[in-house]
Amino acid sequence: MQVRNPPDAPQPARCRATTTCPYCGVGCGVAVELEQDQDSVRIVSLSGDVAHPANHGRLCVKGSALAETLSADGRLTMPQVRDEAGVLREVSWETALDLIAARFADLSRTHGGESIAAYLSGQLLTEDYYVANKLFKGFIGTPHLDTNSRLCMASAVVAHKRAFGADAVPCSYEDLERAELVVLVGSNLAWNHPVLFQRLKQARIDNPLLRIVVIDPRVTDSCEIADLYLGLRPGSDARLFNGLLAYMADRGRLDRLYLKAHTQGFDAALKAARREDCSLAAIARDCDVDVERLETFYYWFATQLHVVTLFSQGVNQSTSGTDKGNAIINCHLAGGKLGLPGAGPFSITGQPNAMGGREVGGLANQLAAHMDYETPGARELVGEFWNAPNIPQGPGHKAVELFAAIERGEIQALWIMATNPAVSLPDSTRVRAALAACPLVIVSECMADSDTLAYADVVLPASSWSEKDGTVTNSERCISRQRGLLAPPGEARHDWWQLAEVGKRMGYQAAFGYSGPHAIFREHARLSGFRNVAPRHKAGSKPLAASSIRRLFNIAPLAELDREGYDALRPIQWPVRRGEKGELIGTLRLFEDATFNTPNGRARLVPVTPQLPHQALSDATPLRLNTGRIRDQWHTMTRTARSARLMNHRAEPFVELHPQDAAARGLQDGALAQLAGRDEQGSVRGDYRARVRISHGQRQGEVFIPMHWNDHFASHGRAGALLAGLVDPFSGQPESKHGAVDVMPLPCEWQATLLIAPGIWGGHEDLAGAMTELEGCYWARIPQATLVRCQLAGEGQPDWALWCERHLSVQAGLWAQDMAQGGISAAGFREGRLIWWLRVTAGAARSDRQPNIAWLGECFASDQLSALERRSLLAGRLSGQADVGTMVCACHQVGELTIRQAIQSGDRCVEALGARLACGTRCGSCLPELKRLVEEERSDERTDSLEMA
Ligand code: SF4
Repeated sequence: MQVRNPPDAPQPARCRATTTCPYCGVGCGVAVELEQDQDSVRIVSLSGDVAHPANHGRLCVKGSALAETLSADGRLTMPQVRDEAGVLREVSWETALDLIAARFADLSRTHGGESIAAYLSGQLLTEDYYVANKLFKGFIGTPHLDTNSRLCMASAVVAHKRAFGADAVPCSYEDLERAELVVLVGSNLAWNHPVLFQRLKQARIDNPLLRIVVIDPRVTDSCEIADLYLGLRPGSDARLFNGLLAYMADRGRLDRLYLKAHTQGFDAALKAARREDCSLAAIARDCDVDVERLETFYYWFATQLHVVTLFSQGVNQSTSGTDKGNAIINCHLAGGKLGLPGAGPFSITGQPNAMGGREVGGLANQLAAHMDYETPGARELVGEFWNAPNIPQGPGHKAVELFAAIERGEIQALWIMATNPAVSLPDSTRVRAALAACPLVIVSECMADSDTLAYADVVLPASSWSEKDGTVTNSERCISRQRGLLAPPGEARHDWWQLAEVGKRMGYQAAFGYSGPHAIFREHARLSGFRNVAPRHKAGSKPLAASSIRRLFNIAPLAELDREGYDALRPIQWPVRRGEKGELIGTLRLFEDATFNTPNGRARLVPVTPQLPHQALSDATPLRLNTGRIRDQWHTMTRTARSARLMNHRAEPFVELHPQDAAARGLQDGALAQLAGRDEQGSVRGDYRARVRISHGQRQGEVFIPMHWNDHFASHGRAGALLAGLVDPFSGQPESKHGAVDVMPLPCEWQATLLIAPGIWGGHEDLAGAMTELEGCYWARIPQATLVRCQLAGEGQPDWALWCERHLSVQAGLWAQDMAQGGISAAGFREGRLIWWLRVTAGAARSDRQPNIAWLGECFASDQLSALERRSLLAGRLSGQADVGTMVCACHQVGELTIRQAIQSGDRCVEALGARLACGTRCGSCLPELKRLVEEERSDERTDSLEMA
């Protein structure tokens, strides 16, 4: 890769730079060391940035593995256009951009600007988002620009607006450390925001008085630090918090002064809560929680002032997610528990720049810079600032609606950037059909293994992390630089550049003639302050000028940054102002003066009527489906799957079931299962096939599956295909936490592990093609450093010798067949090198004889195997080598079986395991899992000794 703007010094052999992690909403600072030789540069080391306020030097396992995801292999490097034969052909940028501009202009003339749409991503930088929003809403004249952040935190956005008059997160991460009580609701912080979890864990060590409550249907790794766990019925959150509001009122725990002086709507909110029986027994019954635990939670919340309620997708991804968010905020307002150190409702975003997208107006119901279409004068203000001719009249289609509009033929052109809707949206099979029918689909993407590319008419190669240059805003409103350190490969270009070039080609040269990201950022900052007056503080303050619109989001002082100042920008929380000496001052906490962004300055309590999930259970779909993230993967895996160690924590799609649900269906741990939902007509919806994990942390009647797998890594791993496209009426956020499915054993007569050298097969198509000859019913593809591991299953009795010869490039050099057991072990060699390795076992159960993949990986890397290694190949391990089991510690590659053995042999705590095996001693992401394994083994020991007694 070519060096671009080496940071800090002009021509050093080695230099250091700081940037931010591109994964979750914690927004950790990353420090890298770069090495330059002649005309190339590479990252030689990567660590947490000790100076960044989000992480103070920490990184989780995903952040630590960033450097492993950077190779140019698998990157898109040239624009492509689909020809008349349906084949994507490489073209020049001029050809691709001219085509897009001409088609957009033509559609605008013939069908109107509203026939064009964009679907963006919280992975984009604020500068990309800003240019997209300006081009589509200001110049093409379409409101149909939405983002995958709709799937993540749109309900929290609406809840904030309803309560505070602005989409404003009141808290900072520091508040978690200053609280007396932290409540996690619908948030597996340990896996999804691991560095924040580590900060909270440390806060609990530093402050023994800090209590932590985890509210979640599943027992997750976040329970490691919980003082109290409420395993509530899915979807009953609003009932729980309505009950809390009534409890506070009944026990005299309201902050009457705060309510009177700074809020409105309390009586209506309490009345709505009291429409249902608010006795503890009734609430405990409805939420399906233990009544004593419920009372303990209510008492702790009601009696502490410094309470942070941290909520995430478990609240948001619901058909009543907005109301749930308001039910939480109501309780904070009623107790005066916000605007104080260690107090407030705290929505944590999933993506690195979900908040940056909200700042520019990158949602279909937003206009720009925290102004909506409904805001009086907003269209005129934005139109004047941009000098834009075509500001739309009203909001556009939100994500799920947008794809329905494409299906109906109302949208004729869609530009998708940095996201993979063919996998990530609910009802994804229908989304794929809509994409296939859309006359023009443009996909800007970095990676070649995005499923959405199959539907693209134009592919634009985009820059990726370490190449992109701009800013992101994390969950605590902190704006940080994500710096361009390496040059993009080939002809890949920044997203903002692609958009601006199309804008210029459509005749808007003046509006899109940006010299670089700093120029875009300055304009964005200027717009935030354009006719933005400071919030009204007291009654009697001057009325606003008719053309002014009061917004909390204001970073106008940053508009004065020159290019150097922008490059050197330190993390800062909005709103931003200048101090007396001209220094930039950010805002740690909002609403400290109890003045809100509503017309009368008062916060609003919102009446909430609890609702159950809309995806109904039935005889055909009796199990409640919960979907979510796992520790070591990000979104649809296009990036994290490039790191072998991240693939090993959960190598295959899985389904977690309660032991009794598994037993009722004849499913054993490690077996293969099939999940399906039903649509409105009763037809089967989706087909998800996965490995069974039996879990006591799962409630009976409920199952959990990960959201990550795409068609490149599993035959049937798309979680979105099982979900209906039902959405919250206010936020448009899909109900991804509350599907309805049944689970059954996947019929198969054999299972196989196939290891192949990289390059033998081009990709998943070769594997999928070869599987059709095997009557295969399941495959998962797991790239490793020196091989590609494939887990296969199927029916019938294939001729394996013939299949190997036909598909694996060389015949078997070693072959052993156990006819009675139906098992085969085989290996193929080329010039002495191991090229493939195969083990087939008969039956549907997972074999007890798991190979040692790590050792086999060394064999694949070896030029010449020793006689002992070659003799041991068919056994899959050297004599005496133990199976390490599922990977727990990704940093040090320590497996579950190794850890269990160490516990059994006397290492009774996490620290002892770390001392012996090094597990948990680097990024710390696996510490909750280690603790759980220790507890499981010790409880097994106790059970054994009781039985013996
Ligand atoms: S917690 Fe992990 S994934 Fe999230 S920003 Fe930090 S390093 Fe990245």
